[in-house]
Amino acid sequence: MRNLHILLNGGHGEDTPGKRWSFEGKTFYEWVSNRETVNRVAKKLHSLGIPVHIITPESEDISLSERARRVNELCARYGKENCLLLSVHSNASKNHDARGVSLWTSRGTTKSDEYAEIFWRCAKQHFADAKLLADLSDGDHDFEAGFHMVTTTACPAVLVEAFFYDNRKDFDYLLSEEGREAIADWYVESIQKCIELYEA
Ligand SMILES: [Zn+2]
Repeated sequence: MRNLHILLNGGHGEDTPGKRWSFEGKTFYEWVSNRETVNRVAKKLHSLGIPVHIITPESEDISLSERARRVNELCARYGKENCLLLSVHSNASKNHDARGVSLWTSRGTTKSDEYAEIFWRCAKQHFADAKLLADLSDGDHDFEAGFHMVTTTACPAVLVEAFFYDNRKDFDYLLSEEGREAIADWYVESIQKCIELYEA
C-alpha cells in the first residue's frame, strides 16, 4: 500500500541565538513553539493512522546538513515521492510590525508548490481573520527561496512560517491554547488534503 509519510522538522533549538521575543515579562521561544506544534501534529496524525516522522526530537539545534541527511535517509527508505517534509517555524520581521502566515518552497515549479497551495487554501478557511502573505508573481501563493531545508532535501518540502512572534497580537495568539490548537489543526487538515492529492 502506498502511503505519504509526513516528516516534521521543528526549526531551531534551545541553543539558537535570537529566535525569541518578549512582551511584558512573557517570552516566546521559537524552538519551544515549533517543537510543541510538531508534537501536537504528530500525535493527531498518529491517531489518524498517518505515518509521521519527527526529524528533530532533540531540544538542541541540529545542523541543517544533519537535518537534511535525516530527511534524505527517510526518502531513500520510503521513496522521495512518498514523503512530504514540513519545516515548522514562526516568523519575525525587521520592524516588528508584520503579521500573518507564509509558505516557502524551492524556486521553480515542483510538487512542493501543489502541497504549499493546499496549506494556503486551508489557512484562508481556517484563519479567517489572519493575514495571509502571498507572492503571486509565479502564479501561486507561496514564496520561493533557496532555503537549505527545501533545496537539499529529495522529497517535496514546504517551510511554514505560522504568524509573527514579535507582533503583539500574533505573539498572544501563538502562546494561547486556542492558537496552538488551531495551528496544529490547520497542519492536520492541510496534510489530509495533501494525502488526497497524493493518492489521486
Ligand atoms: Zn524559524
